[in-house]
Amino acid sequence: GPAHDAGATANRAAPVYQDPVQPVPARVADLLGRMTLEEKLGQLTQVDRAALTSPQDIAAYRIGSVLSGGGSAPADNSPNGWADMYDGYQSAAQATPLAIPIIYGVDAVHGHNNVRGATIFPHNIGLGATRDAGLVRAVGRATAEEVAGTGVDWTFAPCLCVARDDRWGRTYESFGEQAEIPTAMTSIIGGFQGGSLGEPTSILATAKHYVGDGGTTGGRDQGDTVISEAELRAVHLPPFQAAVAQGVGSIMVSFSSWNGQKVHGHKRLLTDLLKGELGFTGFVVSDWAGIDQLDGQRGFTGAEIATALNAGIDMVMVPTDYRQFLQLLRGEVDAGRVPIERIDDANRRILTKKFELGLFERRFTDRALTSTVGNQAHRDLARDAVRRSQVLLKNQGGVLPLAKGGGKIFVAGKSADDIGLQSGGWTISWQGSAGNITPGTTILQGIRATAGSGATVTYNRDGTGIDSSYRAAVAVVGETPYAEGQGDRTGAMGLDSADLRVLSRLRASGVPVVVVLVSGRPLDIAAQVDGWAALVAAWLPGTEGQGVADVLFGDYNPSGKLPVTWMRAASQQPINVGDGKPALFPYGFGLSYPGGPTSPSPTPSASTTAPPPTTPAAPTTSPPRTTPPAPTTRPPAPTTAVATTTQTVGTASCTFRYTVSNQWQNGFVAEVRVTAGAAPVSGWTLRFAFPGDQAVTNAWNATVTQSGGQVSAANQDYNATIAAGG
Ligand code: BGC
Repeated sequence: GPAHDAGATANRAAPVYQDPVQPVPARVADLLGRMTLEEKLGQLTQVDRAALTSPQDIAAYRIGSVLSGGGSAPADNSPNGWADMYDGYQSAAQATPLAIPIIYGVDAVHGHNNVRGATIFPHNIGLGATRDAGLVRAVGRATAEEVAGTGVDWTFAPCLCVARDDRWGRTYESFGEQAEIPTAMTSIIGGFQGGSLGEPTSILATAKHYVGDGGTTGGRDQGDTVISEAELRAVHLPPFQAAVAQGVGSIMVSFSSWNGQKVHGHKRLLTDLLKGELGFTGFVVSDWAGIDQLDGQRGFTGAEIATALNAGIDMVMVPTDYRQFLQLLRGEVDAGRVPIERIDDANRRILTKKFELGLFERRFTDRALTSTVGNQAHRDLARDAVRRSQVLLKNQGGVLPLAKGGGKIFVAGKSADDIGLQSGGWTISWQGSAGNITPGTTILQGIRATAGSGATVTYNRDGTGIDSSYRAAVAVVGETPYAEGQGDRTGAMGLDSADLRVLSRLRASGVPVVVVLVSGRPLDIAAQVDGWAALVAAWLPGTEGQGVADVLFGDYNPSGKLPVTWMRAASQQPINVGDGKPALFPYGFGLSYPGGPTSPSPTPSASTTAPPPTTPAAPTTSPPRTTPPAPTTRPPAPTTAVATTTQTVGTASCTFRYTVSNQWQNGFVAEVRVTAGAAPVSGWTLRFAFPGDQAVTNAWNATVTQSGGQVSAANQDYNATIAAGG
């Protein structure tokens, strides 16, 4: 009848690519055949959300992907705030002639860590200590549910770096120093991507940073990995092989070089080895402005774009100057320096994942999933991950486990009652920060909840007030948060002076001292460890501090094993090379309580024993990616006076990164991007906070000025200067 005919006509008219029943390769081929060159170039362009003038630019420039670089969050950093942001971008994409959805990427590297209220899991080094691939897969699943609950499609995780030098500030992003642990932990990919990418809570995973990022000389971030091909294949490649075998959807290129050649331009590594020999069929994404580094000069050129794409990069994390990028890319294609076949191949790879994810059908956030963010089941899983990640390194006279129900326990140290410190970098902001940054349970709250009603728990951050009436002192000390660019150490890696003061106060009391070390890597503790009765490596446990208390009181018999060698001193780095002396604790070391119960399975819900998560202070605008290195002491007055004109013009949308050269650090590399939409920026005052650094309370005021395409910033307080091409 007529009704049936009308239906048949409508079906015939619907393009193949819009028909979910068609096989993905047919949909991709159909769509590719309809795309203009502009649309194809836009598809492989990834823009940072902070650099987008307006969501409408997604339509105007046919942008294929948006990211939150360094966790850059929407003004409303709640799950619904993220979902609203995501839906806004998808609406813009839907309004284009072919309505190709964007794919949105975030660094959900230990839970959906940019979102206030999300469950924050231990950083990878702690997960590596569990050596439990099933647990880590479950962590990936829970993370994917929370990410999907905010609409987001894609995480830049797992980091499969094999960290060979703990001086590297990204050591905590490594599951372990031997290929075997990162390789086993690629199980997290199955957690992220689910049974199939088309399931409602599946997100695309990224194996990063391909390849050799953890092997740089001196542990220098973005440095040079100087090793033979045999060593590259034996030490750094296996986790990527495993990731490809598990169907990882994307792979991010490492900023580093291999024997002097940047991986971002390395055709043999990206095309011949990864796509050829390993058979990777997903897409390769560059790292943040990584192609800009190919010629050693700041900013990108057409030649760099051509080199990167021809080497095998499929999507470019531009991430800011997308107009200029598209213009230069167009020039390279028109001149025949990037063959259209390469552009088509990159598009095919990207679009295949978009179809597999079901983005053309789903488009907007399923708000029914949003309540999974930070739910109790995920917090219970995180608590279990925390206790399994604890490594008991010393337990003299059986001081642990602590007895419950009576006596006096003295708790001290800056990391005892601080969600920010126990979460580390990549939490709420790029570099992380101290303080009550998101709901969770601190280690102190966990201790109080577990000690029992008959016990007295006294907390004094600086360790004063202890006396011999206490039966144990628990010192929770360690590193303050940092992320890439700030965490590298060139000298010693010891405890800071405030921590050392706390520890010596406790020791002077004669009470046995239990040290809980909250850190992203082994620290130099050889000079102090003999004075401690017990030592637990807690790594960076995240929001569920109850899991640490579970181990301290024996509710869980510690099972974690060192995923890294614990050196005596930084002079022994890189691992197993250094000065040839034996390590303090070898790779794989970890004690349990003698005769203790076999570790029980996790309690189904922590709600009966753990205190409710604390409500954080009212959200402040999360800082853009602008945090400078935090000095540990206030520097001397500048030696050069800097004349500046300061004009405050409002809230800046700016993204920049640099390492600074000043009294404490050399090797000045600056890359500054200051954008207010398309408009050139001048006369902005940027204020940089020092999150996590107690010693410095003053804001760091820098004045950024621009003239003739050059951006420069001068700092009056610290005699540091920043300069970069526009
Ligand atoms: C880091 C990546 C991260 C990207 C996006 C880069 O600087 O190296 O690990 O995924 O930024 O934030």
